Amino acid sequence: MARIFNFSAGPAVLPEPVLKQAAAEMLDWHGSGMSVMEMSHRGKQFMAIHAQAEADLRELLAIPASYKVLFLQGGAAGQFSIVPLNLLRGKAGADYVNTGQWSKKAIGEAKKYCKVNIAASSEDANFSYAPKQDRWQLDPDAAYVHYTSNETIGGVEFQWIPDTGAVPLVADMSSHILSRPLDVGRYGLIYAGAQKNIGPAGLTIVIVREDLIGQAAPGTPSVFDYKIQAENDSMYNTPPTYAVYIAGLVFQWLKNLGGLKKMEEINLAKAKLVYDYLDQTEFYHSPVARDDRSRMNIPFTLRNSALDEEFLKQARQHGLIEIKGHRSVGGMRASLYNAMPVEGVRALVEYMREFERKHD
Ligand SMILES: *Cc1c(COP(=O)(O)O)cnc(C)c1O
Repeated sequence: MARIFNFSAGPAVLPEPVLKQAAAEMLDWHGSGMSVMEMSHRGKQFMAIHAQAEADLRELLAIPASYKVLFLQGGAAGQFSIVPLNLLRGKAGADYVNTGQWSKKAIGEAKKYCKVNIAASSEDANFSYAPKQDRWQLDPDAAYVHYTSNETIGGVEFQWIPDTGAVPLVADMSSHILSRPLDVGRYGLIYAGAQKNIGPAGLTIVIVREDLIGQAAPGTPSVFDYKIQAENDSMYNTPPTYAVYIAGLVFQWLKNLGGLKKMEEINLAKAKLVYDYLDQTEFYHSPVARDDRSRMNIPFTLRNSALDEEFLKQARQHGLIEIKGHRSVGGMRASLYNAMPVEGVRALVEYMREFERKHD
């Protein structure tokens, strides 16, 4: 069996030890005689899996006790609506920072529920940078400030945490949560779809400061009311049990690795391999401002785009897949999530070098 190097933006590569353990436990989880998929979510066994996953996530991110951790469904795109439904708390509007395709979608949904103030935007330069804080125009009456801390498609990552004063800061961290240590206390709410850097699709993680919940708008579905889900340990309805289990195995994998400080070192080294190479060639080009380059999603173009198809075809032959850029931007994109081994990144850079030699 040969594992391929999968640079997909999501659903994405998972740690091999996690997949192996899941395979070993598939038919009989810890002597239960059944798969985790077959368990009642209210049974002792699954409750323990769920509780352990939450405890490990809390430990990894050092989440303060004043925050609730919710394991929900609906994806990050679901949160585009669920956040305003829960966090407007009677206020008329919210601030949004527009840094790319995912911010845009979040803004589009929020507009259904409130007045959206675009506090800052990088649309003027094709979403190639993160607007500096001194250019943000925040509304002191905003219910919250929303930003996309890593734009998965554009490859723009905030390397700093915005200061929004008393107004709660909300971040869509879908594509870089757990890639580095995080000061959760600076945020009102953090959300992430699992299928980028956590686990399988179907699970959405929400970390929310307790004092912000309990004032959902009338008409909010109960399954998407943070307060109701918090009071029910995310079991108001059936949670995505198997996805929670796999996410839990990923959390244990991260802990065994040495935690998020160690993970960050590895991620920095992997990203450096690619960016160092991109910086010394004219054959490829990185469109993102240097200070705002994502460690997780690295878009790049070939100077001669007529070679794109050939580049992708030969990449596949080298066991490197899913490098095609998002349809909205074109070019290439390599996603180097936590689970992408450094060997995969070396193989990618080696291949890029070889392709350049042959075609320059
Ligand atoms: C993938 C992604 C989403 C959408 O996630 P779904 O789970 O498909 O709803 C939203 N925001 C960001 C930053 C993403 O990368």
